[in-house]
Amino acid sequence: MIKKVDIKDLNQRIKQNFPYVDKPEDSELCFHEKGTCWKCDDLREELAECNGQKLTGASIRDIHQEMSRLSAKGWRWMLPSLLRYSLTQESLQNQSEVEFLIYELGPAPEYIDETKQRLSCLNDNQIACLIEFLKWCRDSEGSPWAGYFNKNINRAIKFLVKI
Ligand SMILES: [Zn+2]
Repeated sequence: MIKKVDIKDLNQRIKQNFPYVDKPEDSELCFHEKGTCWKCDDLREELAECNGQKLTGASIRDIHQEMSRLSAKGWRWMLPSLLRYSLTQESLQNQSEVEFLIYELGPAPEYIDETKQRLSCLNDNQIACLIEFLKWCRDSEGSPWAGYFNKNINRAIKFLVKI
């Protein structure tokens, strides 16, 4: 029997497993070193004013297509906000932010190594929580991603269980 994940339980699990953390130093925020990649430098600048532990919905929308430019520490900082945001009405309507997260978590073969690097600051419980989140997206009636996004979600789950 498949155990369905309830949105309240999922919210609770996200809060338990993804406490907010401080923003990493500028030099450690992005995937590539300062001055070596204009895309990462751009993102550093975009995030210059987000100095706290939390990212607002507006900031998440601004950067959601650029998640792959964050370092492992950058991901550890961004995910607590992104996952909480993912279950809000705003995100359920926009859908795009979570779709990009799902793409990021189910990389094409040539991006597997760097994706593993980006997720390397997460602990086992956090990876398990990400899998729960993906299962909710796939299986829940309240999820706008259920059905049409299953192929991508399954790919992401398959990737994460092997990490
Ligand atoms: Zn870069």
